[in-house]
Amino acid sequence: MKVLVVGGAGYIGSHTVRYLVSRGHEPIVYDNLSLGFARAVQGVPLVEGDLQDQSLLERTLREHQIEAVIHFAAFALVGESVTEPAKYYENNIIGTFRLLQAMRATGVQRIVFSSTCATYGEPEEVPIDESQQQAPINPYGFTKLAVERMLQDFHRAYGLKYAALRYFNAAGASPVGDIGEDHTPESHLIPIVLQVALGQRSHVTVFGTDYPTPDGTCIRDYIHVDDLAAAHELALLRLDELQAVEVNLGTGHGYSVQEVIAACRQITGRDIRVEFGPRRAGDPPQLVAKPERAGRLLGWRPQCSSLDNIVRTAWHWHLHHPHGYASL
Ligand code: UDP
Repeated sequence: MKVLVVGGAGYIGSHTVRYLVSRGHEPIVYDNLSLGFARAVQGVPLVEGDLQDQSLLERTLREHQIEAVIHFAAFALVGESVTEPAKYYENNIIGTFRLLQAMRATGVQRIVFSSTCATYGEPEEVPIDESQQQAPINPYGFTKLAVERMLQDFHRAYGLKYAALRYFNAAGASPVGDIGEDHTPESHLIPIVLQVALGQRSHVTVFGTDYPTPDGTCIRDYIHVDDLAAAHELALLRLDELQAVEVNLGTGHGYSVQEVIAACRQITGRDIRVEFGPRRAGDPPQLVAKPERAGRLLGWRPQCSSLDNIVRTAWHWHLHHPHGYASL
């Protein structure tokens, strides 16, 4: 399929682009390179453009005879969304509206959308299945939920076919070792812990030790980016049959912050100094997926998301690219 991958030069996008190529598809990347890296998508056409630029989106969809869109382009930091909500509303909601309008104008009827477990807010029950109430507790989660609603409405009214993939905690890197996670500033647990292992930070602060979990630290469901990439392709292939679908993408198994740090110590063989700090605002104690629906509807099963493999592949990337893409 000829697929426009919007935000394809970012972390999850670039892994998905590579996976699509390996499966014989023709991805075209559309990215404003504000957070993405041209080096992450070498060998694939790259259109440098913004999500707000509806006319460039329309031109790109037409010129490349695009059959489907995968949409990753979003700001995705919970804390920043609280202090700068306008940035999130403008890009994540209004930008996505422009993209959907461009798709309508050009007759492109299929989209796979990056949603998030943050749309659930504080879950009533863990593990979380898709029928749980969506009540986001921060602007980031709300912008993603707003787009889910937009997709539902566009499906009913205009026949848009969509899959909204609700990721849990994306982590890991390609085993090839040339693409991986590179955020400035970095806020995610695994890259931060690995930066401590590299000596780039003095310590990692554990945010909260008084959660109602066995060791008092937050539990998350870490899912390898290559497993997320595979889910996008399966969703693309089944869109015509499924029409409109929301699924969780996680392993069904959670690890505490302490367990993640222990795995990083073991795999890197390096000292990792830890400090214990207060809770971070907006962090629910446990987010673990019930991934059965993705198995049933998409035929998706995580293949490479053991914590060991996630940390091993992330460590390989960080060790060989201590300054991310600037190391190349
Ligand atoms: N975390 C932490 N110290 C850090 C970064 C993250 O203790 O320096 C915790 C955070 O509170 C959460 C978990 O690690 O419980 C995963 O956080 P991350 O930011 O990686 O992903 P999120 O769950 O926010 O999407």
